[in-house]
Amino acid sequence: MNQSIPEQPADVVSRLRATFRSGRTKPVAWRTDQLRRLRGMLTSHGEDFAAALREDLGKSSTEAFRTEIDFTVREIDHTLEHLDGWLLPESAPVPAHLGADAMAWTQYDPLGVVLVIAPWNYPLQLLLTPMLGALAAGNAVVAKPSELAPATSAVLARLLSRHLDTDAVAVVEGGVPETTALLAERFDQIFYTGNGTVGRVVMRAAAEHLTPVALELGGKSPAFVDRDAELGTVADRLARGKFLNAGQTCVAPDYVLTDPETARALEAELARATEALFGSEPRTSAEYGRIVNERHFERLTALLGSGRTVVGGDSDRETKYIAPTVLADVDPESPVMREEIFGPILPIVTVADLDEAIGFINDRDKPLALYVFTDSDTTRRRIAAETSSGGLGFGLPLAHLTVSDLPFGGVGESGMGSYHGRWSIETFSHRKAVLEKPLG
Ligand code: NAD
Repeated sequence: MNQSIPEQPADVVSRLRATFRSGRTKPVAWRTDQLRRLRGMLTSHGEDFAAALREDLGKSSTEAFRTEIDFTVREIDHTLEHLDGWLLPESAPVPAHLGADAMAWTQYDPLGVVLVIAPWNYPLQLLLTPMLGALAAGNAVVAKPSELAPATSAVLARLLSRHLDTDAVAVVEGGVPETTALLAERFDQIFYTGNGTVGRVVMRAAAEHLTPVALELGGKSPAFVDRDAELGTVADRLARGKFLNAGQTCVAPDYVLTDPETARALEAELARATEALFGSEPRTSAEYGRIVNERHFERLTALLGSGRTVVGGDSDRETKYIAPTVLADVDPESPVMREEIFGPILPIVTVADLDEAIGFINDRDKPLALYVFTDSDTTRRRIAAETSSGGLGFGLPLAHLTVSDLPFGGVGESGMGSYHGRWSIETFSHRKAVLEKPLG
């Protein structure tokens, strides 16, 4: 291949398809070798990735390693440890009319060439975690990093081609035109992480080829705080989950739902918890991130006027800094409640009681995550039974996605399909039904 002329999308896909057809990606030994190489890339170039993540998002090195690099390494280790077991055929009981000598089972077949499209907020983890699942399932992969995290995209493109089998893994950098051109090709699976508007574009393009999609989308993830909850702990955990990556986390608690009395007490605790995390001047904290670009900075500062400011509220356009902010007495109809916030602003909305909270949640799009802080078994049971969300976290935001054997994904407006651990094998494979009846 001539390195100076970028390969056309059609050529990339047909080259990878030829590799897949050759059978090269199917042996488990090839898959685990690719995973080990990916691991080696992450451990030997961790600092390069951390520097790129700092450049794109102002991420601290600690955060970059914890939420992106080490997170992905852990997912690789978990997959390497369990892959053989996950791939075992599963037998199915055979009905009597087929005879006692008949056998039936399912086996996992790789799908072929998979397209993974990643967003900018965790630009490394959200490209590599689906990709490693697709490789573990025996597929070839076209990886499209986000153009809005250009430094990370460039390091990924450079290092992935150096470390992985380039006949089976290709990185295509670029924005809308490049992604549109890719989407015109026939893939065997498209795995998209990002917003619902583009999710619809992806699904329409996939429909042309009857290509299955997994859509990992976002939306407003509520956090319900019950009146019996210990508010010091609640505030610490809410602030940590909300202000990580300056609130640019798909499963960040988007807003707090609680009764008016608890809201009052929680305000003071959130102020304390935020200061404990970033000091009284968060803009000087090395641990606090920045907004990805000017468009998002403008969008977010326009939301600061909703409600009464309890914490933060200040911003600096030059450095794309928005302070960790808590807004109280927020009207459910105000701008900050109309769209996913995806930034460091935490509104508190009041409801009379649990019934009203459940009604509030169910009146809106199904969230990617729902968080509940309570000591009551009845509240936990009712929330689990009466609401629908991609994931449900009692007592701790974000943590469910670090449990590799829990499926991570949305429902309704927050997406379809899931991944992580063995769920990635489900998503990136076809479960083939096999029946065998001896001829004798
Ligand atoms: P983004 O702007 O980086 O877009 C994501 C990808 O879509 C990029 O690779 C981009 O090139 C591509 N894209 C953009 N416009 C396109 C178009 N018109 N046609 C084809 N491709 C196009 O990221 P974003 O969408 O701003 O990400 C933020 C959203 O993603 C939030 O809603 C967030 O909740 C959601 N999200 C979800 C998850 C999850 O795991 N469920 C994770 C992170 C982010």
